[in-house]
Amino acid sequence: MADHSSRQRFWSRNMVGWRFMVEAQPNDAHQALVQLEQLGVVSCLVTQNVDGLHQRAGSRNVIDLHGRVDTLSCMTCGIQYPRAPLQLWLENHNPEYALLAGGIAPDGDADIDHLDYSTMKIPHCQHCRGIIKPNAVFYGDSIPKQRVMQAEQTMQSAAGLLVVGSSLMTYSGYRFCLWAQRQGKPILLLNDGKTRADEMATARMGGSCSTVLQSWLGDLG
Ligand SMILES: [Zn+2]
Repeated sequence: MADHSSRQRFWSRNMVGWRFMVEAQPNDAHQALVQLEQLGVVSCLVTQNVDGLHQRAGSRNVIDLHGRVDTLSCMTCGIQYPRAPLQLWLENHNPEYALLAGGIAPDGDADIDHLDYSTMKIPHCQHCRGIIKPNAVFYGDSIPKQRVMQAEQTMQSAAGLLVVGSSLMTYSGYRFCLWAQRQGKPILLLNDGKTRADEMATARMGGSCSTVLQSWLGDLG
């Protein structure tokens, strides 16, 4: 974070990625989880996604375990900013780069790395000139302790754990299974492929999350 060129690289990628982020729409699985919440089947949704799509779909009680990328914080004074208006600033201050970046696909990491970002102008806090950073947990960061505690309390009040669309390979997700197991609660896994918690599961279901969730909704009538 302290290295200027690393931040130039970060913001160049962030500027490109944001254009795809704003176009992303909630899918059928997001919608099914909203309905399961409305029916009282899902009491709280804990997500590792940082895109805010669950909230946009209509889920009410959501814990963003890894934070969100649609807000930013100043690392010095702590003031918060919405991410969306910053796109205009980034594109206005980096017109040549914005033009180059226009043709890059969302998975075009190599294309982005190919560009020279040494002239990239990067944003600072408008109040104190401090470093601003999206409110997401990055590699090397840890999840804020208070948020983990909130998630643990939620697990304590839940009747069981339903895992949707995760291999649980990161500890941040896997620990929910450990908590549920310790509390003697059922663990239901819905994932297209193996998970780290397969041995602990009460029941497992493969296939497309959207299709299975929709069929459950159908069964619930
Ligand atoms: Zn500041």
